[in-house]
Amino acid sequence: MSTRSNKPSVRLSGKYGIIIGAAAVLLSAVATIPFFGGGDRYDGATAEARYFDVGQGDAAMFLWDGGAILIDAGTNESQRDLVDEIEALGIDEIDCAVFTHPHEDHIGGADYVLEAFDVNAVIMPDTTADSNSYYSMMECVREERCPVYDAEAGGEYTFGDVTLSVLSPAKEFGEANLDSAVVMIEYGDVSFLFMGDCETEAELAALDKMGDDAFDCDVIKIGHHGSYTSTSEELLSAATPDIAVISCGKGNDYGHPHRETLEKLEEHGIALYRTDRLGTVTVKTDGKTVWVGN
Ligand SMILES: [Zn+2]
Repeated sequence: MSTRSNKPSVRLSGKYGIIIGAAAVLLSAVATIPFFGGGDRYDGATAEARYFDVGQGDAAMFLWDGGAILIDAGTNESQRDLVDEIEALGIDEIDCAVFTHPHEDHIGGADYVLEAFDVNAVIMPDTTADSNSYYSMMECVREERCPVYDAEAGGEYTFGDVTLSVLSPAKEFGEANLDSAVVMIEYGDVSFLFMGDCETEAELAALDKMGDDAFDCDVIKIGHHGSYTSTSEELLSAATPDIAVISCGKGNDYGHPHRETLEKLEEHGIALYRTDRLGTVTVKTDGKTVWVGN
């Protein structure tokens, strides 16, 4: 993977937040300002990452001219809303669906998605789960005859202007979270890292195998809903993101995101956007600059 000499500039819209110097300040209460500040600052955006509000789960999509990549499909409970939201974007074909690991909060809606859209390929780790969500997903994968690619660190896929690199798992841990697929999506000079529910032990193995530069990104979807068991110092130091998104449910039973993770993000001066507070979060880009809104 190439290293970039120039970090893209970051523009945060009025609705969500602003960056003052190196410190990010969240203005979550400001709801009256229209999307992306209502100005023309995001004119020229040609792609976007959309982090859907699926409650306590994960589902995100990267969209660009003619292309769509899904990363996880949320929960059973959120599946209808997720399909509606994707349909509302005018999508009927998905180039590739990454199912990071077979837990219900990530693949609960996979069967719905596979039935609702033409999914051209599935990337997922070579792990199984003894759950209805998993069996239902696999049944749809077979019925729809989706080609399945094993997620393994070092895998690289190109979809037109977009490159998707698999950075983890670097080895087999035999535990679903640790074996999460971690993927980097690159568009122009801008890169988006999706950590699944990867935890520290697997982060370190992946950094060891792939090298720090492979994790260098602009936007990170924080691992495991902000649990303290993920997002090591080592990972953040390698990734150096400007923007972090945490996908979690309001008042969830796990206490996600954990205080330890929030403190680390603050120490690193990373602007944080949470789906439990903001709903669906969208990051638009033209391949050089990113704008955050919803
Ligand atoms: Zn999860």
